[in-house]
Amino acid sequence: MDLAYTPQEEEFRTELREWLARVLPGLPERPDPLDWPGRRAYDTTWQRMLYDAGYADLQREATPTQHLIFLEETERAGAPYVGANFVGLLHAGPTIAAEGTPEQQERWLPPILRGDEVWCQGFSEPEAGSDLASLRTKAVRDGDHYVVTGSKIWTSHAEVADWCELLVRTTPVTPDTPKHKGITWLAMPMDAPGITVRPLRTLAGSTEFAEMFLDEVRVPVANRVGAENDGWRVTMVTLSFERGTAFVGEVVACRRTLAEVAREARTNGTWDDPAVRRQLGRLNAEFMTLWRLTQWNVSEAQKTGGVPGVGGSVFKLRYSHARQELYDTAAEVLGPDAFDLDHDWTLDRLSSLSYTIAAGTSQIQQNIVAERILGLPKGR
Ligand SMILES: Cc1cc2nc3c(=O)[nH]c(=O)nc-3n(C[C@H](O)[C@H](O)[C@H](O)COP(=O)(O)OP(=O)(O)OC[C@H]3O[C@@H](n4cnc5c(N)ncnc54)[C@H](O)[C@@H]3O)c2cc1C
Repeated sequence: MDLAYTPQEEEFRTELREWLARVLPGLPERPDPLDWPGRRAYDTTWQRMLYDAGYADLQREATPTQHLIFLEETERAGAPYVGANFVGLLHAGPTIAAEGTPEQQERWLPPILRGDEVWCQGFSEPEAGSDLASLRTKAVRDGDHYVVTGSKIWTSHAEVADWCELLVRTTPVTPDTPKHKGITWLAMPMDAPGITVRPLRTLAGSTEFAEMFLDEVRVPVANRVGAENDGWRVTMVTLSFERGTAFVGEVVACRRTLAEVAREARTNGTWDDPAVRRQLGRLNAEFMTLWRLTQWNVSEAQKTGGVPGVGGSVFKLRYSHARQELYDTAAEVLGPDAFDLDHDWTLDRLSSLSYTIAAGTSQIQQNIVAERILGLPKGR
C-alpha cells in the first residue's frame, strides 16, 4: 500500500475542495436530529448533489485513495455524512453490486446513488442477534413470490425506508440442515401490504430504529439476491462491508471532534490537567492508527474485488471503543455541561454506547479475530 498521494490524486482533492466550497453554503439548514422524515429529505438532497457532480459512486468508480480523499475533504468541510442513506450506500448497495444480477444492479443501484431510495436492514430478531443464523422469520414459496411471516428488531431507518435487505428462513432447521444453510437474502419493498413498523426510542430520544412485524408479506422471487438457501454467504458479504468500510468516514469525523475537544480544553483550563492531556494524546495516536488501518482495509478490499476481508472486525472492534473513549474524554473536558442534552457531544456520547453493539458486538468481533485471524480454537 502506498500512502503518498500522486499529483492526480492531489488534483482530485483540489477540485473536490473547490466544489465543496461552492455548494455547501447552498445546503438547507440541518433538520432536528429527531425529525427522521426531515433527515431523510436532507440526506437524500445531499446525495443527489453528489450524484449530479459525479461523486456518488466513488467506491466503484474511483481509486481507493480518491475515495479516502473524498472522506477526508467532505469531513474537513463539514459536509453531511451519509445519514439515512447508510444502509443503501454502505452495505445493501455494495452487496447488490457484488452479488446481484445485472438486472438487480440496474434496478437498485442508480436510485441508491441518486438518493431516490432509502434502505433499511432487517437482519436481527428478538432471538437472533449475535446468533444471527438462528433467525426464524420464514418465507414460503408461492409461485413467483415468497410469502414472508415473522418479526425483526432494531431495524435502523425502517420508518423512512423504501427497501429492506431482509434475511428469511427458506428451509426449516433439521438434523440434516444446519441453521445457516436455510437462509435467503431478499430485497423487500417497504410499501408491501402486511408490514407494520413500530418505532423504538433510544436513550438519546431518537426513533432511529424500529420493530418490524411481517404478516404474509409477498416478495417477488426476482428480489432474491444469491440463490435460495445461500443467504448466509451473501450475509457475510453484507457484514464485511458493514464492519470493514461502512464506518470509515466516521474516523475522520472523530479526528475533527478530538481537535475540537483539545481546543475546548485549552480554553476552559482542563488542559492543565496532565491526565486530560495524556488521554487526548493517546486518542490522537489511536485515531491516526485507525485511519492508517482504514487505508489498508480499503486498499486490500480493492485487490480482492471490492469485498473487505475479516480485518474489518479488527477495525470495528477498536474503532467502537475509541469512539466511546473520545466522548468520555469530551465529557471530562466539558464538566457539568456534559449533562446538557442540547450539546452535540452529549448526544454523541449517548449514541457512542451503541457502537459496541451495532453491526456485531465487541465480544463477537473478538471471537472472529480469535478464530479467523489468530486461528485459535472455537469456544464452546
Ligand atoms: C444502534 C443500533 C442499530 C442497529 N441497527 C440494526 C439494523 O438496522 N438492522 C438489524 O438487523 N440489526 C440492527 N441492530 C442490532 C444489532 O445487530 C444487535 O443488537 C447485535 O447483533 C447484538 O444482538 P442482540 O442485541 O440480540 O444481543 P445478544 O446477541 O443477545 O447479546 C447479548 C450479550 O451477549 C454477548 N454474546 C452473545 N453471544 C456471544 C458469544 N458467542 N460469545 C461471547 N459473547 C456473546 C453479546 O456480546 C452481548 O454482550 C442494531 C443495534 C444497535 C445498537
